[in-house]
Amino acid sequence: VAERFPEELNIFALSVNTDIAALKSQAEKYKPSIICASGVAGGITSDIETVYGQEGLEYIASHPDVDIVVNAVSGFAGLRSTIAAAHAGKRIALANKESMVTGGELLNSLSQKHGFEIIPVDSEHSAIFQCLKSGSKPEVRNLILTSSGGPFRNLPPAKFAGITVEQALAHPTWNMGKKITVDSATLMNKGLELIEAVYMFGVKPDQIEIVIHPQSIVHSMVEFVDGSVIAQMSKPDMRLPIQYALFYPERRDLDIADLPFDNPVSLQFESPDQDKFPSLRMARQALAAGGTAPAAFNAADEVAVAAFLEKRIKFVDIFAVVDHVLNKFANLPADNIESIVEADKNSRAIASEFIAAKGN
Ligand code: MG
Repeated sequence: VAERFPEELNIFALSVNTDIAALKSQAEKYKPSIICASGVAGGITSDIETVYGQEGLEYIASHPDVDIVVNAVSGFAGLRSTIAAAHAGKRIALANKESMVTGGELLNSLSQKHGFEIIPVDSEHSAIFQCLKSGSKPEVRNLILTSSGGPFRNLPPAKFAGITVEQALAHPTWNMGKKITVDSATLMNKGLELIEAVYMFGVKPDQIEIVIHPQSIVHSMVEFVDGSVIAQMSKPDMRLPIQYALFYPERRDLDIADLPFDNPVSLQFESPDQDKFPSLRMARQALAAGGTAPAAFNAADEVAVAAFLEKRIKFVDIFAVVDHVLNKFANLPADNIESIVEADKNSRAIASEFIAAKGN
């Protein structure tokens, strides 16, 4: 997106977790003023100002020369930089859904004071954000979050015990990082997105419906009080929500592939199988509990997915880990960063202990 609009989008800072080679090659191309490696303590040689760790991320996210922070950190590690950007009154193009999931209450309480704005980059939330332009807030009846259903939508429950890492990493419509690809296969991603939507759009959990839509053409929908349902559609292409968040409220030209309306195109919608995928029920349980329960839900899933990717637990154990943590963790008010960080830490410990006990 930045390459297409070099006059308007100037990359001020770039960050990675640990992929220094990618950071260096992109720095050469985009000539940022600062580079950041959040997952390493030091040791990069460069002519460019270099910062490290979580502090480095917060430094670039709140830097006075920055207008827009694109937060695409993976997982809970993205929360502090979102909070830093919020305190500094930035526009936050949010791809790190965990910021909203774990810090939604806190971010909403800060929004009066600091004048920041959050524009979703998550494709479903971008779709809802766009559809909401069709009416006013009191006119909204429901938000309809679509899900591809992941690679195991049609797999019989009896086969779930044998799902391998390789199978879970083969997503039918989107090409993404490993964590989110596994989350798409368990529908934990949709659970996280459900929580994200509640805090982002200020609706009640029961105003959000999850619908399986295998083609990933309709990215989500809004139903208004008169029964009108507005959908946002396109070929799956993340450049669209990214560009929308950067230029909002304007739309810019994008060379996205056309929808094939000249060929027969069928769009399918169905209800998710909640027995096969208990993730949605668990996400609703976390929302009902409130406080740091969404942070516990997220932490448990992060630990479980890491263990699954390392082949220490089975695919179905991911559900067991999250369920266990949700029933064991101590809930706290989520109105400050310390208690959210504490809840995350404690939930990770409970999850790790459960996984270790399972292995014996
Ligand atoms: Mg999404």
